[in-house]
Amino acid sequence: MKLIYTHENKLLVENARNLLQMEGIETVMKNEFSSGAAGDLAPLDTWPELWLVDEIQLEKANALLEKMAEQAEGNDWRCNNCQEVNGAAFEVCWSCGSPA
Ligand SMILES: [Zn+2]
Repeated sequence: MKLIYTHENKLLVENARNLLQMEGIETVMKNEFSSGAAGDLAPLDTWPELWLVDEIQLEKANALLEKMAEQAEGNDWRCNNCQEVNGAAFEVCWSCGSPA
């Protein structure tokens, strides 16, 4: 297995995982439940991590993550269903799961 993505924001890691899953790329999430209480600065080694199960898919996974990072530079959008504001990287609402 290979570590392909980590971020202090668990939602971004989950989003990356969903994105890869939709493309048939299997990943495992680690440190999912180890971040500190709200307001605490979690040390780097407790950030949620996304591990690639099959390294043969590394190139494809990296390309998708790059695309995701580019999209993250875009504008936030508001969910039509629950009015929650989502970052541009999210393809579905992080709150209720409705598509953008
Ligand atoms: Zn929503």
